[in-house]
Amino acid sequence: MKQSIETNLAKIAALAEIREDENIRFRSFLKGSDKDVDKIVHRLHREIATAIDCKQCANCCMELTPEVQPEEIEQFARLDGISIEEYQNQYCEKDEYGDIAFKNKPCRYLDGKVCSIYEIRPHECRMYPYTQKDGFIFRLLGMLAFYPVCPIVFNLMEILKDELGFRRKKTIGFPFHRQDLGSR
Ligand code: SF4
Ligand code: SF4
Repeated sequence: MKQSIETNLAKIAALAEIREDENIRFRSFLKGSDKDVDKIVHRLHREIATAIDCKQCANCCMELTPEVQPEEIEQFARLDGISIEEYQNQYCEKDEYGDIAFKNKPCRYLDGKVCSIYEIRPHECRMYPYTQKDGFIFRLLGMLAFYPVCPIVFNLMEILKDELGFRRKKTIGFPFHRQDLGSR
């Protein structure tokens, strides 16, 4: 991988704001692509996930609230020595899709930058950020939502733009360039 990897969360968040329109255009571009996007994404995922240490980041555990399955709630309630109902009332809520998710940010299981229940963490946490899964172009809305939060997704999308020859448009009044941020 030629490109350097950006892990500065403040820079990523700032660039995400600047590139909001560009990323919406990239979503349309990807949907029309005749390339095997999953194959490229899986390769990039392997390269980028190897280069990033999630234990130095933990931003998903600070910024997102993962979905939890009933059997996971049962296990976590048992761990706390409280009933499932108590656990749900205290720590869970229905998300916008009607699924049960943790309600606290940062996650109550985050200890420094490490998950204190790593071995039994929810399935959703194990799968995040889903860039290793097939069907990337069907999850682009989710990827755009993860882009400001997760360095793996941010770097993957940026490198993907270059690899697929996506034309970035210069914005008039652009407050600063990528080079100014020292991103690459
Ligand atoms: S359960 Fe662990 S991996 Fe999942 S959000 Fe909480 S701290 Fe992060
Ligand atoms: S999955 Fe993404 S947001 Fe979560 S710790 Fe790893 S790099 Fe950071």
